[in-house]
Amino acid sequence: MQVPQAAPGSCALSIVVPVYNEEDGLDAMVARVTAAARGCFGADYELILVNDGSKDTSWARICAHAERDPHIVAIDLARNHGHQLALTAGLHHVRGAIVFVLDADLQDPPELLAPMLAKLREGHDVVYGQRIKRHGETAFKRGTAALFYRMLDKLVDTHIPPDTGDFRLMTRRVVDQLNAMPERYRFIRGLVSYVGFSQVPFPYERDARFAGETKYPLRKMVALAIDAVTSFSTVPLRFASHLGMLFGLAGLLSLAGIVWVWLAGGTVQGWASLAALILIMGSVQLLVLGVFGEYLGRMYMESKHRPLFQVAEVRRHPVAVTAAAAGEAVQPVPASSEEAIRVAG
Ligand code: UDP
Ligand code: MG
Repeated sequence: MQVPQAAPGSCALSIVVPVYNEEDGLDAMVARVTAAARGCFGADYELILVNDGSKDTSWARICAHAERDPHIVAIDLARNHGHQLALTAGLHHVRGAIVFVLDADLQDPPELLAPMLAKLREGHDVVYGQRIKRHGETAFKRGTAALFYRMLDKLVDTHIPPDTGDFRLMTRRVVDQLNAMPERYRFIRGLVSYVGFSQVPFPYERDARFAGETKYPLRKMVALAIDAVTSFSTVPLRFASHLGMLFGLAGLLSLAGIVWVWLAGGTVQGWASLAALILIMGSVQLLVLGVFGEYLGRMYMESKHRPLFQVAEVRRHPVAVTAAAAGEAVQPVPASSEEAIRVAG
């Protein structure tokens, strides 16, 4: 797979934020994330904003920030790829020794960087945010999320911690492992668990969205849930044989009943029960076929080896490009000497 290369050089911290139609909260997010990063690392950080084909003014705002601030790397994807692939694109561009991932809507407080960092420095490779409370989310979203994480835990072998999103701090070696995984149906929190090393939770209260609406309607949540299950488990494929055994047993029992009635000199009546049985069997067979089809379709899509994402443009401040080439941390520059350049993606 061909992926765009990160700029040379390195820094202490890379922050990756996927952005999809977040114009209302973007400026506040950049300000809070920048303050948190400066508080921990001074000038030695980069903030990667990945525009996932936004239809509003998000990209223009991101560019304006990149023109002002040499710490900001602006990545524009060619179209909307979805949250997980937008995040993947950002992770492929990181230069930092530590990587911080958070959403653009400020539901995950950037100020938690400092305590999460302290935890990471105790000798862990991943510190993942675990939601102990979710503010501003509907009972339906909370309920379905809780159900999903419990169901996932039953189905998959890899332990994927419940109530955990993509808000986390990771060392570079974990991100390198993630970037080496070529699959396109990505459930990143699961992939991080799969990588291993020492991973610890960081309990936090998830704030309400700062502005705008959720970009995860029910349809996308269901798609993510199916990605999660099919990426990490083949248990649904085994349902077919379990169902087969169950129905076989039921058939044998009813046959025994029929023979019993016949021996007693009676006749078994009822075309309605027969019709119901045929319908049930038919629907179970189609259901099982559908599950097979889901896995088969995913294998087909994976077999094409298409790139995971298309980058339209990467913008870095000229100061950032020069410093990166020299392997230095970028320093803030006075506003008058700024000039943004385009680096083809
Ligand atoms: N997002 C994205 N592409 C999409 C949908 C969402 O990059 O197609 C981003 C979005 O801007 C946000 C993050 O993914 O930064 C999580 O989305 P959201 O907050 O809407 O999800 P929720 O918190 O409601 O589950
Ligand atoms: Mg959100």
